[in-house]
This record gives sequence, structure tokens and C-alpha cells, in this order.
Amino acid sequence: MALFHALAETSLKVAATRKKTEKAELLRDLLVSLEKDEVASAAGWLTAEPPCGAIGLGHATLYALTKVRAATEPTMTILEVGHGLGEIKSSGKRAALVHARALFERLTHEERRFLVSALTYTLRQGGLAGVLLSALTLASGREEAEVRRAATVMGTTARVAEAVLGAAREHPLPTAISLLTPLAPMLASPSDGLTEAMADGGTVRVEWKVDGVRAQVHVSGETTRVFSRQGNDITEGARPALVGAVHHSVSALVLDGEVALVNDELRARPFQETFSALAGGPMPPGYRLHLFAFDCLHKDGEDLVEHPLSSRLAALRAAVVLGAQMPAIETDSLDLAREFLADAESRGHEGVMVKKLDSAYRLGARGEAWRKVKKVHAFDLVVLAVEWGSGRRKGLLSNIHLGARGDDGTFVMVGKTFKGMTDELLAWQTRHFQEIETHREEHVVHVRPVTVVEIEVGDVQRSQRYPGHVALRFARVVRYREDKRPEEADTLAHLVALAPEGTPKAGATKPATKQLSLFSE
Ligand code: AMP
Repeated sequence: MALFHALAETSLKVAATRKKTEKAELLRDLLVSLEKDEVASAAGWLTAEPPCGAIGLGHATLYALTKVRAATEPTMTILEVGHGLGEIKSSGKRAALVHARALFERLTHEERRFLVSALTYTLRQGGLAGVLLSALTLASGREEAEVRRAATVMGTTARVAEAVLGAAREHPLPTAISLLTPLAPMLASPSDGLTEAMADGGTVRVEWKVDGVRAQVHVSGETTRVFSRQGNDITEGARPALVGAVHHSVSALVLDGEVALVNDELRARPFQETFSALAGGPMPPGYRLHLFAFDCLHKDGEDLVEHPLSSRLAALRAAVVLGAQMPAIETDSLDLAREFLADAESRGHEGVMVKKLDSAYRLGARGEAWRKVKKVHAFDLVVLAVEWGSGRRKGLLSNIHLGARGDDGTFVMVGKTFKGMTDELLAWQTRHFQEIETHREEHVVHVRPVTVVEIEVGDVQRSQRYPGHVALRFARVVRYREDKRPEEADTLAHLVALAPEGTPKAGATKPATKQLSLFSE
């Protein structure tokens, strides 16, 4: 039985080398040393997708637990840790804390660091899933293409690990999607605007970008399941949105879509209200949960992920009633796309998605095939530090320091903001950021880079003010994104690409006072 320590130790070694081949070899050495019933768990841990899923303890509690007395020697096996986490997950709040404390006391500092970083999605090893697939190829002696193909239909690397090294290792690898099991959804890349997103000139699909909750709908005979972006089962909450949406003749189906709270004119309520309605919360009068299906990954025995979007949409149209399809146009005209965007925005939607009609569906991947276009620039950034406020905000943590994701997975500061915060949010920030504090410098509280915040900005400019050499103008908080991991934050490269060369350098020329006041309270 392998010790949990082996995972923590390998993870550190993998993080310490930059070469992908060396990373894969280190992981291979570990994988081949494991028992058949340990490989899936190990693969889950090493890709920051722990087998237990979310255990119901917040980041702050987890970090607080790292302060309790630690074991000096590693003794717990991988399976024992999994069992311990399962116990925490299935207990009520009080008992969960008691179990969690007992578990943390049996782990060494190194093991706890690894455990918490995997549970809070802050594991930094480099190329997590991609490298693990290479390691699985090496460890199993299978063809790389065969393993990668299995990964495209299985959804998680842990499942691939189980298939190539687990108890069923002698069986052929699955080459087809398995219904009622969540798949990692495809992600979109940000874009500067319609002109840039349509720069290739060909006909593209332009769809509303509805700000609701991602919904992957699986139908297998009489059974229907709906999964969220993270693969959580949201069937119960989403059920009202599915009534009458899928044609009865369809017996096997996987759809990708968004569920949102809308009225009869398809005007949407803010995302938070959809979220709470899905969780059984109140429904504003005149509004209902509605499915906006925009892709079809499987229909009646045929996997479509490798098929071009145009064919997947034909399958979608055959499976779903018109009212449940995402409003869209197909055009090469920038003017028509602009009109469509304006209409989407006038109904309260976030913007549009521009999609290439000949592109495949890349499970779990963010590509150029889907580009999101919003009128105001909005970015997902990570909070690096926060300043104590003054005046009316004395005693509250207010001005947040914002980081974009660098190439190496670290975060680079690109600006600050104290705008867009309600009293309630300020109180939350004050509690939350002290709980994940790492150290203080004068009035600045530095925090672990785990909190993703959506920031709306007026503009992005080149600037010497911050280490990333870009600065955000008129930045304000839209909302905290608890559904996003720090590695899903926007990249520095993306921000740099948006800042035209030759815009005033804040360090070189004296910026207007109005602009300055955004960055200093
Ligand atoms: P963001 O959360 O800003 O990164 O935008 C990506 C999200 O937009 C996806 O995960 C979906 O939940 C959502 N979305 C809304 N409309 C669409 C659409 N037409 N196509 C794809 N994703 C969409």
C-alpha cells in the first residue's frame, strides 16, 4: 500500500523540473509502484482533482487546519487519506471539523501542503493533466494516441488511469463517451471584440452569451442527468428547464448548454439569482429556468466530439425543440454580428460567443475555436493582497491587488481596485482575506492567490506602474467567482495583447489625477 507521502514527494519533484519529459518520467515511476486500486486516486490527486471531490470545508478552514500540530513521520496510505476525507464529507459541520482535525494531525507538513493545494486547486506542478497522460502512456506501454483518445471521451485523467493501470487494465480502452458520466466542458478564450474575433473573415456562428449556469445534459433512455461545469449533479434544480426541451424520439444524448432564469422575452436575471433558483431558492415572478442548448456531444449511439461544430449543431437541431436552442446567427458580416451583439446586450445578456463552424469539441480545453465577446472588458483575476481602508472604510479590507496568470502559473500584479464593493462584500472581504493571509506589510495584507474575482475595466494600458507592464483603468469588482480556479484566471499575455503599444506609460508620463485615484485609496 503506497503512502500519501509518495504523492506529495513526487509532486514536489515534478514541480522542480521544467522539462515535460522528466515530469512524465517521475510520475510514471510513481504510477508503476502503485497497487491497482490506488492508481485512479493517485491520478486524481496529481491533477488537482481529488477523488473525494469538494469536501465541504472552505479554503479558510483548510488553511486554519494546517496550523494544528503535524505528524513528524508519514504513516497514512493514499486510501486511508481518501477514507478520512470521505468521512469529513459525509458528516455534519461539527463532526466534519473534528474528523478534519484528526486527519490533519496524522499528516506531515509536506503532506498537508500537498493535500490543501490539491483541494483548493492551487497545485503548481506544471501541465497537470497533459503530463499525467504522457506518464500513463509510459507506464502502460500503450500507444499515446490511444490513451489521448480515451481521455477525450472519458472526461477525467483519473478515469483514464483506472482504465490503463487499474483492475480492468486488460480490457480495451473505451473509445466512446459513457452516458450519465460528466465530461469536462470545452472552454472559451477571451477576445478584444467582434473585429478581432471575426478577423479570419469566414462565416462564423455568433451566439448569445447567456450568464447562467453551465449545464451538461445526459439522456439515456428514461434517465436524465444534468451536470454543472465542475461535474456536480444539478439534475433536481435544473429539471424545470428541461420540461419539453428534448424530442421524445431521442434515446441517447449529451448536450452542452446554459441554464438561466429568464422571462417570456428571454430577458435574463443576474447570474446569482439563477444559481439560487437552481439550488431551490425563490423564483422572481414572471421568470422561469430555461435551457439554452448550444452543442451536442453525443446522439443516439454516435459520439460527435470530433465532428465539426456545423454537424454537431445539425444533431442539436434534430434533438432539441427550437425554444431550447441558444439564439444564434451564422454570418461573415461584422455589421450583422454587431447588431446581434447589441440585441443580446439589450436583453441583459453578457455578450456573444463567436465559434468556428469547422472546429471539434475539445473536452476540458480552452481554445481559439470559441471566443467570448463582451462590450465591457471583464477579466477573471486573482487577489494577491488587500489594503486596509481609510475614512468610511477604516477597519475594513478594501483595495484589492489584482494578479493575472503568468506563463509559469504564478500571478503578476496588474492593478488594484476598491470599486464595486457593497458593505456586505467589504465585510466578507475583511473576514475572508484575513483567513487566507500569508503576511503583512504596513497596511497591506498579503494573501494566498486562491480567490478569483471578475473585474470589469474601462481599458487596459501599457504601464510601468506594475510588474506586468500593463495597468487596468476604471477597474471595478463585478463578483467573486467561487466557481473558478486560479488557473482559470485570465493570462497576462492576454492583457498585454489588449493594451495597444504606445499608450501612455504611467511611470514615464504623469497620469491624469482621475486615473491615479483608481490605484491609490
Ligand atoms: P466565462 O465564464 O466568462 O469564462 O465564459 C464561459 C462560460 O460562458 C461557459 O462556461 C458557459 O457557461 C457560458 N456560456 C454562455 N453562453 C454560451 C454559449 N453560447 N456558448 C458557450 N458557453 C456559453
